[in-house]
Amino acid sequence: MGIVATIPMRGFIDIMYKRIVVKFGTSVLTGGTPRLDQPHMVELVRQCAAVQNQGKDLIICTSGAIAVGHERLGFPQLSPTLSNKQMMAAVGQSRLMQMWERFFDIYGTHVGQILLTRGDVEHRGRFLNARDTLNALLDHNIVPVVNENDAVTTAEIKVGDNDNLSALVTILAEADLLLLLTDQPGLFSADPRMNPDAQLIPEVKTIDETLRKLAGDSVSGLGVGGMTTKLQAADAARRAGADVIIASGHATNVITRAVRGETIGTRFPALEIPLVNRKRWIFAAPKVAGSLKVDEGAAQALCTNGRSLLPAGILSVAGNFSRGDTISIQDQAGQDLARGIVRYGSDDLRKISGCRSDEIESLLGYVYGPVAVHRNDLILL
Ligand code: GLU
Repeated sequence: MGIVATIPMRGFIDIMYKRIVVKFGTSVLTGGTPRLDQPHMVELVRQCAAVQNQGKDLIICTSGAIAVGHERLGFPQLSPTLSNKQMMAAVGQSRLMQMWERFFDIYGTHVGQILLTRGDVEHRGRFLNARDTLNALLDHNIVPVVNENDAVTTAEIKVGDNDNLSALVTILAEADLLLLLTDQPGLFSADPRMNPDAQLIPEVKTIDETLRKLAGDSVSGLGVGGMTTKLQAADAARRAGADVIIASGHATNVITRAVRGETIGTRFPALEIPLVNRKRWIFAAPKVAGSLKVDEGAAQALCTNGRSLLPAGILSVAGNFSRGDTISIQDQAGQDLARGIVRYGSDDLRKISGCRSDEIESLLGYVYGPVAVHRNDLILL
């Protein structure tokens, strides 16, 4: 992760980033029009090349495949079916990639395309495989250009938006900065489009309910993300030890300034004690397959005493999941307390919930250990 201390300067933070993920939202690449703004893409690539020339590792997470496909096909009037969107993504992705390739070529830099889906990172083995590919590209000074594999993925295995995808990439690559570039200068104290008194929030240390409400569900132009998905992404990446900055993709020299540690946009400092690798994966990658409601004693044991979850503390089980799936753990009011990997499937847990661990074997005929979710496989929210 290598964060190196530097001399603090006015308006700067005293760290220097080594590995940076830059996410370009569709609104940044199109400038809010239906077409790609190629001169602006060239300008963004100029900044990326400058960062790379400083010896830093750079990964791009690009949106825009669907928008570019639509443009390339001459803006056909199509019903918004999944297959039509996938068709546009198939056309747009190769075109988009051609452009990144052409623009980086100006600086003599190679790019490599990585198309991911949630399915590619859900299993630890595939996660490690994707990580090796990213590292191999970076080791050879090739800029990985990542997007979701929109042409073939279905809702169940999709990450769904490139904000969360870029957080996943940050975790995969163990980057120390995630720069989310969008059409807004950052996160505001109110919706700046409705409220002229809205103030830019320069730094966010805690992502709580109030902030989530503030972010609302704004969606910008042709992209699918809004401030809500950006907050989710920021939360996941900062738990993994990366700083996150949300800033305008049109601010002058935004990439080089953010990487220098200059104050820009809204910054979310990394958690001081980041999650260990295995836990990062629990938080960011898998889809939550079900939930367990736990009693007050179990909630306290998890949240205050750092204990594992025992079957005895489980009140009810929702969803159908298998051993090894990720589930959420909730208190009696349905509030999410934690997320973790279950050691028993949902059918088994329904049989053993409320029971003592030494009864598991007689109830199921086998035992995978005394706990339902081990504390090493658990993240408190
Ligand atoms: N993967 C989508 C695309 O390339 C973008 C998703 C998003 O806007 O977050 O069109």
